[in-house]
Amino acid sequence: MSSSPVPEQNPDLTGDAAEIEALRARLEPLLPEAVEDLKDLVRIPSIAFPGHDRDPVHRSAEAVAELLRGAGMDSVSIESVGEGAPAVIGRSPAADGRPTVLLYAHHDVQPTGDPADWTTPPFEPVEREGRLYGRGAADDKAGVMAHVTALRLVGEELARDGVGVTVFVEGEEEAGSPTFRPFIEAHREALAADLIVVADSANWAVGTPALTTSLRGVVDVVVEVRALEHAVHSGLFGGPVLDALTQLSRLLATLHDEHGEVAVEGLVRAPDPAVDMDEADFRRDAGVPDGHALSGSGPLTARLWARPALSVIGIDAPSVRDASNTLVPVARAKVSLRIPPGESPDAAMEALVGHLERHAPATAAVSVRRGERGKPYSASQGSPAMDLARSAFAASWRTPAVDTGLGGSIPFIADLLEVFPAAEVLVTGVEDPESRAHGIDESLHLGEFGRVCLAEALLLRGAGSLGGRPA
Ligand SMILES: [Zn+2]
Repeated sequence: MSSSPVPEQNPDLTGDAAEIEALRARLEPLLPEAVEDLKDLVRIPSIAFPGHDRDPVHRSAEAVAELLRGAGMDSVSIESVGEGAPAVIGRSPAADGRPTVLLYAHHDVQPTGDPADWTTPPFEPVEREGRLYGRGAADDKAGVMAHVTALRLVGEELARDGVGVTVFVEGEEEAGSPTFRPFIEAHREALAADLIVVADSANWAVGTPALTTSLRGVVDVVVEVRALEHAVHSGLFGGPVLDALTQLSRLLATLHDEHGEVAVEGLVRAPDPAVDMDEADFRRDAGVPDGHALSGSGPLTARLWARPALSVIGIDAPSVRDASNTLVPVARAKVSLRIPPGESPDAAMEALVGHLERHAPATAAVSVRRGERGKPYSASQGSPAMDLARSAFAASWRTPAVDTGLGGSIPFIADLLEVFPAAEVLVTGVEDPESRAHGIDESLHLGEFGRVCLAEALLLRGAGSLGGRPA
């Protein structure tokens, strides 16, 4: 980690030091109960993947609903769309003209892999050395409990202040949120908010909070190269005719330069992030063997968050097992292009298609089918909500929050922004680099969990200063 400059933080937005310390002191006795409630949630194997028993997902939705009722929410219901997994919506509506904050988390979890690989069974939560181990202990049942705990702490105060809170706890995030879009459209009114807090990401390190302020988007295409009308003998016809797979390979090779940088012209690069990561950590996490150089240049965080990345993710061609001495007449590849904030998916798509068409050989017909277009996300900087979040994080951790990015996408964030265009989205989280979300021995740092709860309570309490939607 570098000690780069971080954006300005103004702790005063969340109250003076004495108020903040008073709230910290009131939180302290609530934490043991929060951890016990979290353990109860972790004991429910709520895996929403196809082929898994749905009963635990229903039980975990019930448990979350009960926690929200207990935290004093005015109305709590369990909802689903079609075959979708049950989500929980808790509401305490705003007074007229006052703002509403939507708190998002998910109550479903990843499958565990072989439970024998875990130090202790995944659905039997255990505390060891300041961490709570178990599937979902961090991702994202700790996000659920951060919302519940913040409401236990400041819920009454918010009600007095007329600030509305909606808690939306999804039940199928790890399974790719298949009914997310129809769900939020069906519940558009109940979920409408001025500020959306998505507690499903990670902090920078234990002791250093982070706001996830950028996510890459993604576009993809399928490119087809047709060289011949039909397959022919490679001995009789090879020479004057290049097979389609060779021609496809040559075309795909034009997509990067000799350093491994994306060679498609006209793509946007965002500015380099203020933080960088340790190359050894990255190599370990990615599984890059010793002795293999990395591709591209510049900070790893820039290569991961701020620049385009292009991968060939599949090829249709004869398999090696079925290979015969014929010239392959047609071959296809699916190409995936990650795009940084500032890039338009439409523009990136046309740049990629244009590159493939310009580099098409005269010896084949090349056609490109446009696929998915996912928008990148960039938090609006300098907005009142972002300033408030920075202030709350700085006050809780007693150290400024750093801005981090994610190389991947959180597709439902684009959906939220499209369905609720007036809302601002903040991406926060409970994980730290040791959490191993989705992995073996997933865990939550309990000290960090307390700081997450305090930051969220401070954020909610400060939300009264944000404007509400006109009635
Ligand atoms: Zn998650």
